[in-house]
Amino acid sequence: MSKVRVRFAPSPTGFFHIGSARTALFNWLYARHTGGTFVLRIEDTDKERNTDEALRVLLDGMKWLGLDWDEGPDVGGDYGPYFQSQRQPIYDAYLKKLEDAGRTYEKDGAIWFKLEGERYTAYDDFLKAEIEKVKAAPVVIEDAVRGRVERAEEKDFVLVRKDGSPVFHLVNVVDDIAMGITHVIRGEDHLSNTSKHVELFKAFSVEPPKFAHIPLILKEEGSGKMSKRDKGALIEEYESRGFLAAAVRNYISLLGWNPKDEREKMDIGEIIELFDFPGINKGNSRFDEKKLAALNAEYLRELNIESFTFLARPLLNDAGVVSEEVDEDYLQAVLTLCQPKARSLDTLSELCGYFFVDDYPMDEKTGAKIAQKADPKALLAEVLPLLESVEPFDTDSLKSALEAHAEAKGEKVFAYFPALRYATSGQGGGPDLLPMLEVMGRERVTGRIKRFIA
Ligand code: GLU
Repeated sequence: MSKVRVRFAPSPTGFFHIGSARTALFNWLYARHTGGTFVLRIEDTDKERNTDEALRVLLDGMKWLGLDWDEGPDVGGDYGPYFQSQRQPIYDAYLKKLEDAGRTYEKDGAIWFKLEGERYTAYDDFLKAEIEKVKAAPVVIEDAVRGRVERAEEKDFVLVRKDGSPVFHLVNVVDDIAMGITHVIRGEDHLSNTSKHVELFKAFSVEPPKFAHIPLILKEEGSGKMSKRDKGALIEEYESRGFLAAAVRNYISLLGWNPKDEREKMDIGEIIELFDFPGINKGNSRFDEKKLAALNAEYLRELNIESFTFLARPLLNDAGVVSEEVDEDYLQAVLTLCQPKARSLDTLSELCGYFFVDDYPMDEKTGAKIAQKADPKALLAEVLPLLESVEPFDTDSLKSALEAHAEAKGEKVFAYFPALRYATSGQGGGPDLLPMLEVMGRERVTGRIKRFIA
């Protein structure tokens, strides 16, 4: 078989939708799996929507996900230009071929594609008029995902509009021919266009590429297709919410594909190795934010602390929790405690904000619960002198000092813990208490306890 050449052919709209990202990813995976070429072709024929800004969102999203293209914008290649807006001479030349073969005609200022077959007049319910129809032989598509699909076109269709602009069907097919595309992997919403495309390939006397139409991504609830308004639909938002690209990419690979075992977390090398058409599901997939968050949490836990700190810092900064001047060692020590509990970076400020700011919110329910058992202020007043004098101020010394104190009082050491945690963090849960106090340091801890008692 000739070398695989696949393409991702987006029309930049200003958003990088998860469905587009999935199409890009599947093409990229197939190219990497087969050692083929991944082409990025920009279908920018809609001048209103396809702005430079819209292109940037798309390219940034692709780069963020690590989907590098072998040919296309920025990198060039032998089959360019890679923007449809720059390929008009190519479309003209191909249109000429169809004209020469007698497969076009002009009507009402537009150029039409003439189907082959017996012509007859029929009443069209949609147009509410008599129109000419064609009994064309059905087109057979051996789709790599859907299996055999048969469909007969019944009407000629427009190739070039009145204003001279070529329609999607023409430019899409011409580019796939001119760029030597061997496999077209795209959303199932294009399946209904494919018979038109195959008719065009036949008219150009070119063997159509292999098609693989991938199922829809449904929104979390209900039966609808995920739209750009649904939470989780836009790739650019994952980036700003501090999701890890590797986790998002891993998750998207599972939307409509699976490696035929129960595995979900896979590194990209494994996914490339296992990815192929038989693993693509026929049924629609459903977006599942919880599953994505769980995968993201797994990836977060695996990061070394330097990388975790590097990624967390700007988000804590944006949340107003840490400033530029925050002590690097303190930041890293805090994040070492919080990393195992983190599910996403954008919720990190809620999880560990109190380490950095003194006016942390006090969870009232926790406060009430603690007060039911004992007077927290009295307990804290008891241990304050010990906290001020224990040397060094670390987990081990705190443990022995608090234990000795508790024993002398005929108490269990844990009797003091809830009040200590609540006074210093405002919360009822968090990292292990004594390491937490050690990281906060004596001054912060005693200061907070004094303020709490006052
Ligand atoms: N520009 C089309 C789209 O974004 C490309 C369809 C195709 O992959 O053939 O849907």
